[in-house]
Amino acid sequence: TQDFNIDEAFGSDSNSMSSLRLRDYEIGSFLGEGGFGQVVAARNKHHSKYPVALKVFSKEMLISQEEKEISESKNPDMRTSIMVQLKREIDIQSGLDHPNIVRCFGHFHNVTNIFLILEYCPGVNLRLRLLQSFGKGLPEKEVAKYVSDVSRALLYCHERNVMHRDIKTENLLLDAKGNVKLADFGFAVELGDYLQYTLCGTIEYMAPEIIDRSGYAEGAELWAMGILVFELLTGSEPFTGDGLSEIRKK
Ligand code: ATP
Ligand code: MG
Repeated sequence: TQDFNIDEAFGSDSNSMSSLRLRDYEIGSFLGEGGFGQVVAARNKHHSKYPVALKVFSKEMLISQEEKEISESKNPDMRTSIMVQLKREIDIQSGLDHPNIVRCFGHFHNVTNIFLILEYCPGVNLRLRLLQSFGKGLPEKEVAKYVSDVSRALLYCHERNVMHRDIKTENLLLDAKGNVKLADFGFAVELGDYLQYTLCGTIEYMAPEIIDRSGYAEGAELWAMGILVFELLTGSEPFTGDGLSEIRKK
């Protein structure tokens, strides 16, 4: 049933940094939980005293999710395979170089996992920053700074026809200087001449044209920015509820 091959997709010939190996890294602290594994701090033993973040993808989890989605899919030919989307995450993020976007320096893999080498952000993500306000929202001045950082990142992406598709507080990380960096290109896509129809992202941030399947492009990300501004100022998203259908209706 598998129409993909992880080792073919992530094998050494498709990997410009194939000389990198897990044993070259000293693994440090846990940074966050990812969908297919953890994100951990690490340091290359040979050529850097600076830490990076390694985003780990368990091959076993990728394969079982792929099989689950294939078996549940009403329209198997229309879905984007997990492997294709992971390749997009790597290719798109590696091609972006902007002060408000987490850099991707490359990737490598071993028998069990695929590792993305990412710029390390020592600060909390904006979801945790919001929790520090006890759910009351952050001061306007602080919100203005964050929103201007995210706007710069998005403008840069959109100029390059890249749509992130998962703008939300968890995917916005603080660096050592208090600047926001856009992270997690796990749903990113390169836009072409046609509208996008794939339902992806996080329901609270989805623009109406994503939810009603009428076709969307980068404009949907301005809606997500609006949700973000509201949430940062008040402590919660404007459209919330029990379950998908209630939020969708609102
Ligand atoms: P995906 O949607 O592709 O499955 P994910 O949501 O599982 O991604 P990320 O959002 O990339 O994974 O990372 C999860 C969490 O790990 C983040 O919210 C953040 O707290 C932490 N993290 C991710 N990247 C970094 C980084 N470069 N530096 C520091 N912490 C990070
Ligand atoms: Mg995320």
